[in-house]
Amino acid sequence: MRILVVAPNWIGDAIMSQPLIRRLRLQHLRARIEVLAPKHLAAVYESMNEVDRVQTTSFLHGSLQWKERVATARALRAGDAHGPFTHAWVLPNSWKSALIPWLARIPVRCGYTGEGRWGLLNRRWPNPPKGHRPPMIETYAALAGGFERKYDWFGADRPRLVVDPAHVAIAKAKYIDRHTARPLIGFCPGAEYGPAKRWPVEHFARLAELVAERHPDAAFFCLGSPKDKPVAAEIAALAHVEVTNLCGNTSLREALALMRSFQAVVSNDSGLMHMAAALDVPVVALYGSTDPRHTPPHNTQATIARIPIECSPCFARECPLGHFRCMRDLTPELVYEQLAARLGAAPAQPTPSPGQGADGRRA
Ligand code: SF4
Repeated sequence: MRILVVAPNWIGDAIMSQPLIRRLRLQHLRARIEVLAPKHLAAVYESMNEVDRVQTTSFLHGSLQWKERVATARALRAGDAHGPFTHAWVLPNSWKSALIPWLARIPVRCGYTGEGRWGLLNRRWPNPPKGHRPPMIETYAALAGGFERKYDWFGADRPRLVVDPAHVAIAKAKYIDRHTARPLIGFCPGAEYGPAKRWPVEHFARLAELVAERHPDAAFFCLGSPKDKPVAAEIAALAHVEVTNLCGNTSLREALALMRSFQAVVSNDSGLMHMAAALDVPVVALYGSTDPRHTPPHNTQATIARIPIECSPCFARECPLGHFRCMRDLTPELVYEQLAARLGAAPAQPTPSPGQGADGRRA
């Protein structure tokens, strides 16, 4: 049996697909499991013990690229020493994502019906009802068949990424070796989805100052993509302590290795937040417009920082009400309280404003 998993396009979704791959591995112990993933996700799938090989694609987001898909399917169909693929699991719901396994004539093609993929997939699961957002991790894991037991998505069954200690040592030497200080704190201030998911830069800057008041030797590093560089530069400029902007400087593999050496991470609801949780790094996850019940950080060491506000979650990319209170009212002091618990420090005295609260919980 040779399985092809067609990966989603986002880091967080890729990480939340691991329990599905683990279930496939346990169900088919002798199977070879390969992942077809966008090039930028290769490091994530290569950090999963259950995956035998990652094959990468260079398709542009939202683009059909028919010729390239046919060429990829042909290469998969031609096979190699491991024989032909017998099964495919297609994780994205788009029509075009199911084309390659169909063109490659993989006999069993599994996935959600998605965009009316009746001909392309021959083992289909009905889409979740419209407006209903079940936990993403369960949505993927269910594609392995019915659940055989009660799963602990925050404990034994959570996503786990494994980083080679040699990669950690190399990344540390390259980016943070002059910082012998502790703790090393990671900030992930980006969110590809849109500004409604981003905690204000002045809050990140103030949080660094609050930490530094109690941990004078702390060092702060912003991780993210090249697109996050300007946001991180603003944080570095605003903070009265040194914040090193590594956004866009590191590869994803290096970011994984660096994150593994951090004592804590503070992150917007983004792929890097899921990465920290999957690496067992204590993370404070900042939620505003999105719903932590749908895509929480899967780790008991993670905490969720958000304020109760009627309009949340709105899932908008930009605040439709203009005030952006879900994130603005989530003050650095409130977040510091949760971070301090991770660092073993006394919480700062909050400076509450009227009607403000926090409902952080352990995920
Ligand atoms: S509408 Fe509410 S939840 Fe949505 S972005 Fe604005 S403040 Fe946040």
